Amino acid sequence: MPAEESTPAIVLRARDYAESDRIVTLLTRDQGKLAGIAKGAKASRHRFERKLEPFSHVMLHFRRRPHGQLVFITRAEAAELAQFPIDEDLGRIALGSYMLELTDALTAPEGEAADAYRILSEAMAALSPGSADAALRQAFELQILGWAGFGLDFERCRICGDEPGAEAGAMYFVVGRGGVICPRCRPNLAEGAIKLRPETAAALARLGGSPLGAACGATPAGSDGTAALARFINSILDRKLKSAEFLDSMLESGG
Ligand SMILES: [Zn+2]
Repeated sequence: MPAEESTPAIVLRARDYAESDRIVTLLTRDQGKLAGIAKGAKASRHRFERKLEPFSHVMLHFRRRPHGQLVFITRAEAAELAQFPIDEDLGRIALGSYMLELTDALTAPEGEAADAYRILSEAMAALSPGSADAALRQAFELQILGWAGFGLDFERCRICGDEPGAEAGAMYFVVGRGGVICPRCRPNLAEGAIKLRPETAAALARLGGSPLGAACGATPAGSDGTAALARFINSILDRKLKSAEFLDSMLESGG
């Protein structure tokens, strides 16, 4: 029998299976993204001290199986891990669900993901005391995209390299360029672009590099920035995330 392995993990998705089992997808600190089956999860409070539900932060114990993709989850404990009390507020549920879905979409099974785990746990911890927060959403999007290899540049023109700052009047975000281009280069470019106000470009540059714990309550980029990030994410995933619409409606209503 393969040896038991252990790692801290955050549950991304879970569903019931057969009469008493759960099939769970988790982002782990040490083993990347794993899908596993927890036999008897609904009945055994002893082995599954922590419920295997989205947002659960657990010390996961599992064995790999010789065949098949699902690992065999033997235990899930609270250990000393921070818990994320997401489910007491609709705004938190909306933003938290979106963070889980975006992380899920950007991570591959078993790929190394220690930093993605760190970014997600920091974002979840930042989220818990607050509510749905536009700046935290944008900071998380920028940082998880950066982890996945899509570091976006909102300061330097992707064509000429200039950094015109507020003097530019506007910068133009181009999805296929992974960042902004300046007003001088804009007329030479056939691709569509989203016009960003200078303060939006500055806010996105700042949020991409600041600790997630400090993002909650910071000044977010405006609707032009939200639109730029949404278009970029939809473009690389080739779809809109299910949780995005609910989150957009919560943020619009000030939820
Ligand atoms: Zn330029």
